[in-house]
Amino acid sequence: MRALHIERHRTERIGWLRAAVLGANDGIVSTASLVVGIAAAHAARSDILVAGVAGLVAGAMSMAAGEYVSVSSQADTEQADIERERKELSNDDKYEHEELAAIYVKRGLDASLAKQVADQLMAHDALTAHARDELGISDTLSARPVQAALASAGTFAVGAAMPLLTVLVTPKTALIPVVVGTSILFLAILGGFGAYAGGAPVTKAALRVTFWGALAMALTAGVGALFGAVV
Ligand SMILES: [Zn+2]
Repeated sequence: MRALHIERHRTERIGWLRAAVLGANDGIVSTASLVVGIAAAHAARSDILVAGVAGLVAGAMSMAAGEYVSVSSQADTEQADIERERKELSNDDKYEHEELAAIYVKRGLDASLAKQVADQLMAHDALTAHARDELGISDTLSARPVQAALASAGTFAVGAAMPLLTVLVTPKTALIPVVVGTSILFLAILGGFGAYAGGAPVTKAALRVTFWGALAMALTAGVGALFGAVV
């Protein structure tokens, strides 16, 4: 007889972890690119630092605002959907039973079993059953806009601080290669860690983030060098 085993899935953990890794990733890529672009235009170290710190604050605020708006509007939409469902349930109970049963038929149950499942689930908690199986809303996804905004801004700032600290401790002549090198290293570690914690392939994730980070820095370095030569 085959022993029962409990599979451990990690998708629940991915929500906040993904947001944190994404925030730090954005902070590193945008600030390192900013620093490299300005350094390529032969700016003084103090100007590079001022631009980098301004970039950190601007980026963190933009992440916070974006996350707050996105999570709030998601929550509003879910709330409105659930209100509509609540009305439908009180207006046309028979239709709602058929509707839920039809969903289970579509997922592979035969008609009589689907009806039985729908009836029992609706007797237990009709709104939750419809929210989950008709609307795809489960309460584990309940949105927290302020927390999401703070987490995004905080992780962005941590990411952005890495290239800025590198600028502080690196001689001016070696600034561009050192910032590029350390940032790619940070990105690879972060991408690999995010993948590891989420149970996804590590090397693939690390390569993906370092490719985009390197591309961003190469582009801003090109633009910075061009403007530095022109202006
Ligand atoms: Zn319904």
